[in-house]
Amino acid sequence: MNTKNSESREVQIAQPSLGSEEVEALKQTIESGWITQGSQVAEFEEVFAKRHEAKYAVATSSCTTGLHLILKALDIGPDDEVIVPAFTWIATANVVVQCGATPVFVDIDPLTYNIDPTKISDHITKKTRAVIVVHLFGLCADIENIKAVLPDGVHLVEDAACAVGAMVSDQNAGTFGIAASFSFHPRKIITTGEGGMITTDDEHLYELLKMLRNHGATISEERRHLSPKPYDLPDFDNCGFNYRMTDLQGAVGLVQMTKLDEMLSERQLRAANYIETFAELPWLRMPTVPEYFYHSWQSFVTYLESEKSSISRNEVMSGLHERGVATRPGTHALHILGYYKRAFDFSPSDFPNSLASAQNSMAIPLHNQMSSEDYEYVVQAINSLDV
Ligand SMILES: *Cc1c(COP(=O)(O)O)cnc(C)c1O
Repeated sequence: MNTKNSESREVQIAQPSLGSEEVEALKQTIESGWITQGSQVAEFEEVFAKRHEAKYAVATSSCTTGLHLILKALDIGPDDEVIVPAFTWIATANVVVQCGATPVFVDIDPLTYNIDPTKISDHITKKTRAVIVVHLFGLCADIENIKAVLPDGVHLVEDAACAVGAMVSDQNAGTFGIAASFSFHPRKIITTGEGGMITTDDEHLYELLKMLRNHGATISEERRHLSPKPYDLPDFDNCGFNYRMTDLQGAVGLVQMTKLDEMLSERQLRAANYIETFAELPWLRMPTVPEYFYHSWQSFVTYLESEKSSISRNEVMSGLHERGVATRPGTHALHILGYYKRAFDFSPSDFPNSLASAQNSMAIPLHNQMSSEDYEYVVQAINSLDV
């Protein structure tokens, strides 16, 4: 196939939606003279918490550092176990290891790519302190059935990296468990370059998270800066981190929040259109959205039905690459990655659904910088493959 004709174009897998308003917000913040965590971050936290109907929000330097803070604030450490899905971004498990605790993998439901609630009970021991559920690609985990199998005292933590704006019925991601962490990496729905946001309804945890984010200090830098007593220094009751977000990022995040609902509904429309367009394609399974779930479509992840196709997932991806259409595997099966394979002596067949999803899933372009022509081009490119 001639891919370099006049019709050909490049469609990226994801692209942030940043413009002149973000530039203006950055300019104003720089000119204000205060660029580390300050009023912009505080306002971003307030707007974010309100939008997700959470009581409190704590901005962080990333979703990963947010998850780490949550586990630290819950006092999770050596001798503790934390359940995580085997199919996710590696950070979900890394933060458990960083606390000195043990991540315990559970396989996923192959249709939703999220942790399989029926497989959790088998992995709960006396040492289980928490479960980190992942709302992968923007689809909330099966919270109701997960909660039903969690013993009292086992915390539910949400890795909501992909789930800004996602819901189950009328309940927002970020409000299902003790705390949640969202991501503003450029691959996610809204972005601050790097950045994260914790949500929680627990006041005690909220106060602890704020302290741990800032070296364990009992008063914030901004308050210290504004204090009329130059000799005032904070006390440090806890051994904390520097996981703060800058006001530069906070200012960008505030602008991004004003665009969120429009971005979500556009993604909704485009996803529905893909699903309808490819409904009859036997070799490519469309994403599943269970009833009452509002998918935020951080990624649109299809699945190659290998028995119905004459070529492999990788050949499909190469074919689309030649046509200028970017694709990516959905995400990783953690148990086949070097560190986890070695540390836990896993074999690939230990988590078969995660393995199959890593081998056969394929994210196709869906983001807010794509034009109608870009979408038509992706559809044509997929239909033109000799499968
Ligand atoms: C992106 C992502 C993360 C990490 O987010 P950062 O903000 O880059 O730290 C964690 N978990 C999942 C499921 C993700 O998709």
